[in-house]
Amino acid sequence: MHGHMMQQSLLISNLLVHAERHHATQEIVSRRVEGDVHRYTFKELAQRARTMANALQALGAKPGARIATLAWNGYRHMELYYAVSGSGAVLHTLNPRLHSEQLSYIMDHAEDQILFFDLTFLPLVESIAGLVKSCKLFVAMTDRAHMPLSKLEGLLCYEDLISSYPDQFAWPDLDENSASSLCYTSGTTGNPKGVLYSHRSTVLHTYAGALPDALNCSAQDVILPVVPMFHVNAWGLPYIACMTGAKLVFPGPALDGKSLYELFEAEQVTLSAGVPTVWQGLLNYVENQRLAFSSMRRTIIGGAACPPAMMKTFQNNFQVHVLHAWGMTELSPVGTVCSFKAAQLQLSKAEQEAVQTKQGRVVFGVDMKIVDDQGLELPWNGQASGELMVRGPWIVREYFKGEGGDPLVDGWFPTGDVATIDAQGFMQITDRAKTSSNLGGSGLVLSTSKISPCRIRPLPWPPASPPITPNGTNARCFW
Ligand code: AMP
Repeated sequence: MHGHMMQQSLLISNLLVHAERHHATQEIVSRRVEGDVHRYTFKELAQRARTMANALQALGAKPGARIATLAWNGYRHMELYYAVSGSGAVLHTLNPRLHSEQLSYIMDHAEDQILFFDLTFLPLVESIAGLVKSCKLFVAMTDRAHMPLSKLEGLLCYEDLISSYPDQFAWPDLDENSASSLCYTSGTTGNPKGVLYSHRSTVLHTYAGALPDALNCSAQDVILPVVPMFHVNAWGLPYIACMTGAKLVFPGPALDGKSLYELFEAEQVTLSAGVPTVWQGLLNYVENQRLAFSSMRRTIIGGAACPPAMMKTFQNNFQVHVLHAWGMTELSPVGTVCSFKAAQLQLSKAEQEAVQTKQGRVVFGVDMKIVDDQGLELPWNGQASGELMVRGPWIVREYFKGEGGDPLVDGWFPTGDVATIDAQGFMQITDRAKTSSNLGGSGLVLSTSKISPCRIRPLPWPPASPPITPNGTNARCFW
């Protein structure tokens, strides 16, 4: 017997419709590549996303078409998150840290048709344009006044598209299993592999990610995702903000400690998320200048193990609680978050800090186990360590176009991470499996793939800020 409840597809466009209807005046604040700070509301986001959906259709983006972005965290990138996926196309976020040879391989493999890019990346786009066979349309994510002189034939202007189309668009009632976005992960062996997310997997991940024992987001939060929107959907925060009605603050290209701190304070950020290297830059600045955080209460640290000293500095010196999290591109990405159970609140500070060095417990929807070399499940005693295997509705089943064959073992995805799990279900990464087929780290992908081994461009630290002069020409090369 079936239940008698409504059948409604889980769609990314529904998140935006909800945000516009219930949080219309909530703000999205973005530091722009053009150098200034831009501010608008969820209502304007929804209007411009609908306009962009019309523009995409006019440019020939059919359902399932892959539309690529090379962009920082900002409101135009957010509009594309919703316009592309909501209209039935597939948002392919590209990692600008990759070498042009790798990028062009990935774009051709994905068969990207249109590339939207921030002005910072113009030189990179010009270097790959001739190499990529599939992509014929390029859109600079800026206004007419900042359009650069470029070798790119027929280069389009984002704001021209926005002003050319109506803001009425009926989001299609897609099959919830339709593909929504695509992110590639580089391997230690073989070619880069695409992880193709669906509307259903994304919305389920959004529900789970927002939960109190996960990323713990609400309409009272002001969230600044430092973690890039070009890598695994900025850990789901652009979707979580629409679901919860949290204010969003985007740092754009300015990821140095001073720029981040100023934005945290000006916008009264309560929650942030990023990899340890970003936080080190921020902490150095705040400590050297003898500053304090007036509003920030929590920060999510993942992508690499959070150093215990960093955790202590945040918590003891700045009263910012650290949420240590683990995930992967193949997991959309959230797998585990280290949030306390009630009994752990009674522990001493030192004991709590020891718990927090672990990557934490699964959010509902993710199932995990550790196995030995023979694939036999190991006990959860905090001692036995083995390869971490996961399964769940937002975990990859196969890579895009079947690259690399069937990745699953008896229905479980082998993560390549080696871990222990304690009796309370807290997982701790201890190593990487020798046989691992991926080597990740939230955006800083180290690849020895067949395409171009070890040819990643590291971003300078701190990055130039802002990299673009007001008239739109590059002040200096970002790399
Ligand atoms: P990526 O798919 O590029 O985001 O990289 C995922 C990989 O980053 C995982 O398989 C881990 O090896 C590593 N990773 C992510 N979060 C953590 C963490 N909190 N501690 C240690 N390693 C992590």
